[in-house]
Formats: sequence, structure tokens, C-alpha cells
Amino acid sequence: MDQGLFAFDNSYARLPERFFAHQEPTPVAAPRLLRLNTLLASELELDSAALKTADGVNVFAGNHLPQGASPLSMAYAGHQFGNWVPQLGDGRAVLLGEVIDRHGQRRDIQLKGAGPTPYSRMGDGRAAIGPVLREYIVSEAMAAMAVPTTRALAAVSTGEAVFRERVLPGAILTRVATSHIRVGTFQFFAARQDIAGLGQLADHVIARHYPEAAAAAQPYLAMFETILNRQAHLIARWMAIGFIHGVMNTDNMSIAGETIDYGPCAFMDVFHPETVFSSIDRDGRYAYINQPGIGQWNLACLAQSLLPLLDPSEDVAVAAIKDILDTFPQRFEAAYRREMGAKLGLTNAPAGGKEDAEGDMNLIRDWLQALADNHVDFSLAHRHLGSLDITSDVAKDAAFLALFNEPETVAEWLPAWRQRLAAEASSDSQRQANMMAVNALYIPRNHLVEEAIAAAENDDFGPFDELCEVLSRPFEAQPGRERFAEPPTAEQVVTQTFCGT
Ligand code: AMP
Ligand code: MG
Repeated sequence: MDQGLFAFDNSYARLPERFFAHQEPTPVAAPRLLRLNTLLASELELDSAALKTADGVNVFAGNHLPQGASPLSMAYAGHQFGNWVPQLGDGRAVLLGEVIDRHGQRRDIQLKGAGPTPYSRMGDGRAAIGPVLREYIVSEAMAAMAVPTTRALAAVSTGEAVFRERVLPGAILTRVATSHIRVGTFQFFAARQDIAGLGQLADHVIARHYPEAAAAAQPYLAMFETILNRQAHLIARWMAIGFIHGVMNTDNMSIAGETIDYGPCAFMDVFHPETVFSSIDRDGRYAYINQPGIGQWNLACLAQSLLPLLDPSEDVAVAAIKDILDTFPQRFEAAYRREMGAKLGLTNAPAGGKEDAEGDMNLIRDWLQALADNHVDFSLAHRHLGSLDITSDVAKDAAFLALFNEPETVAEWLPAWRQRLAAEASSDSQRQANMMAVNALYIPRNHLVEEAIAAAENDDFGPFDELCEVLSRPFEAQPGRERFAEPPTAEQVVTQTFCGT
């Protein structure tokens, strides 16, 4: 038996019955462990050796319910591409329970692809190996870049086929999240005018994630403000690494401020603000440059849902929460300027206040414009910039300028950048080290992810494992692994990604 595989303490399962459906995973034919995240396991105080045994693998496959689990599928609603859907819910996910990690943080352990649930609608409740490995690779790469994200604890194949456009091997991801509560969870109760449920959900979120809000004059407003702040910072992080979520529906926005739901997400190679990869995002609603605006739109949906908790007078409630909602653009911009500034080596907070901040924003804007005009690789451009000295060195500058089709465009920008660097107290070597520590050399480039998935579909997991290894140290040059840093060749460029559900 699995004596003590997980020390579960399941707070969500103690909420009222209408918050979820009791749901056990559906067993699969032939589970096989594809990868176990042993570092994450130890962070969660789990025993990796035990998790690798048949008992452990059977848990990840949904064939064995571990002791202490209270399996359930969560109810939620959401706006999908702006359209209201009153009932979504976990259509293929089962929350096994919660554990307390090494830092005292409560974490959800969820199986994704564990079979049908009452929320499956037309779906089969399953996941194909491609999307499972993709989520494993990208979510762990995000974590290695210190971006708040759900994590991947394990991937198993099921030995069963799933039927999409093609017949594909089935798989299950064990996902770990600070919680799986979404904007859409609040919308679910608000839309039903279930004010008691809404209040219980908000109280649960405050107790679990934002206990400091409990002491505020208006705890629900304080909770909203913290969620908004987290999202502003999260989206600024995405922008700074060239990440496009691809499906920022309100049911895919975490209340805990983590990146969640890796469907058709992608990292940009060549920089362009309008970039869209998702095959289902036909109007570019979730294009790279639209992400902050969509974040605010989703937060407006959350604000709307919270109104009944704020004040008996709707006018009073709207006025109070709108004041906070309206701070999103400036909070985002401040976070964005810090993130992008650090990428350019601008670590000093501008001394003179507004005017200097504007100067930095202009510098960032002109830099990105030069990248876009010249179709330059976003990640490599920052990496190369980080090797330049404050005084022009002809050979180094030439190597950098070679990235640009029309080097004149950036030759004008470089002196302005160098002038701004003069206000930094750091030496060349300090600044270069700082820039290398925030500008990743290795990102989960689409062509590498697809290469790993294609091999896995043919039962070769070597490329998947190697890609995971490379991406676990994204900032460090790894000799012999140069090809993982390179942009795609013309033949390798991926123009579309699919959520594959
Ligand atoms: P997503 O686009 O991944 O955020 O999913 C939107 C909704 O569709 C959620 O309620 C999912 O649980 C559900 N869903 C996605 N794929 C499947 C599937 N294969 N079977 C059942 N439900 C699914
Ligand atoms: Mg989702």
C-alpha cells in the first residue's frame, strides 16, 4: 500500500458540495512513468523513490487513489474569447488533494487528463502526450526563469489512445498549483447569484492566499487589490521573456497569480508585438501586445463578480472597486519598466522620478522598435546586448550589429543606451553578469518543443528529457548544447500552436 505517499490536508474539499463534484480518476490500461520532477517532489516533501514505484506511478495514472485523497473536479465558469460560458469546470482534471510544502505553502496536487467528469461536456476527459509534454516543458522552463507558474510533478503515458485529428498516445500530467481557483470560479457563484457561496469562496481565498487582507478595513477590496497587483507583475514578467499565453480566458487566470493552463502558449523567436501563435485565436485577441489589456479586462470581470460582497449599494461598490481597477495600467507599466529595464542593464531606480522613468520607457520602446523593424530574435538580442561594454568596442559592437538587417537603426540607439548606463553605479562586468542573469539563453523555443514531442510520439523520450535538462538552467551557457540556444532555421519556424484538447 501507499502508506503516506502524500500528507494530504484538503481544504477545498471541506467547502460546500456545490463548489465541486466528487470525482475519482478513471483508471488506464498501462501506466508508464515518463518523467518525475524530483526537485519539485522534495520541495513538496514527497519521497521520489516511493513515487517511482508501481504504487506511485499508479497514483499519477489515476489507477490508485492515494491514502488521504479527496478527489474532486472543481466547478467554474468563464469568458472564453470574450464569450460568457456559465458552466465550465474541470472537464478532465481531478484534484487529488492539497499538501503543505517545505516552506509551509499549501499546494494542490491535480491530475490533468484523468478521465471524464460531470464538467466534460463533449470532451473525453483525456489528454494526448503532446500537450502533456508541452505543459511539462514550458511550465518548468517558466519556473526556472522565476516566473510564477503552476508546476509539473510527473508525466505518465496511459497505454491508451486518444482521438484528436489523429490517433495519439494518451498521457496524464500531475500539476501542482498554489491553488486552482480562477477568476472564473468567482464568476460561477456571482452568475448564480449565490452570494453565500461567493462569500465563502472569497473567505477561503483570503485565508489561503492573502491572510494579510483579513486585517484590512475592507478585506474583499484588499484581496482584489493584491490579486490585481500579482497579475500586473505576472504579465510584466511574460512580456519581458517574450511569452504569449495564447488563451487568457477568465477561467485560465489564477487567483494566486500563477501562470496557468499551458495550451497554445509560445515563446516568440523574432520580435513582433502583434505575434499570435494560437490556431484558435483568429482575431489576435490574445496577441503578445494585448496581454496587459486583457489582464485588466479579466480583472474587471473579477471586480464585477465581487460587487455583491462589497456594499449593499451597487453604486458605492462599483466606485470602490473601480478605483483599484483603474490603477492596473500604472502598476503594470511600473512593473514592465523594471523588468525590461533590468534586461537592458538599467537596474538603478531612476533617481529623478517621472521624467527619468519616461526616459527609460522611451529607451525600451525604441529598442523594441528596432528589434521589430529588423526581425531580430528577442531572446538572443538581449543576450548579445548584455555582452557589450559601456565604451564602444569595435569588434564586440560589430558582432552585435550583425543581428540587424539595417544596423543603422540600432547604431543610433546604442549611444543613448550607453549614456543612460553612465547613470548606473555598476562596472561593465557587474552589469553584464546582471543582464546574463535575467536574459535567458535557453527558452522553450517552439521548434525544440515540437521536436521533443514528435520523438516522444515515436516512443523516444531522449529529446524531451534533454530539453527539460537544458531548460532547467536557462541563464547558464551549457557547452555542447549550443543548438538549443539557436533560433529556428527557415524550415524549422513554427507559425501556429494548437491547444490539442
Ligand atoms: P481550456 O481551453 O484548456 O482552458 O479548457 C476549457 C474547458 O474545456 C475546461 O472546462 C476544460 O476542462 C474543458 N476541456 C478541455 N479539454 C477537454 C477534454 N479533452 N475533455 C473534457 N473537457 C475538456
Ligand atoms: Mg482552462
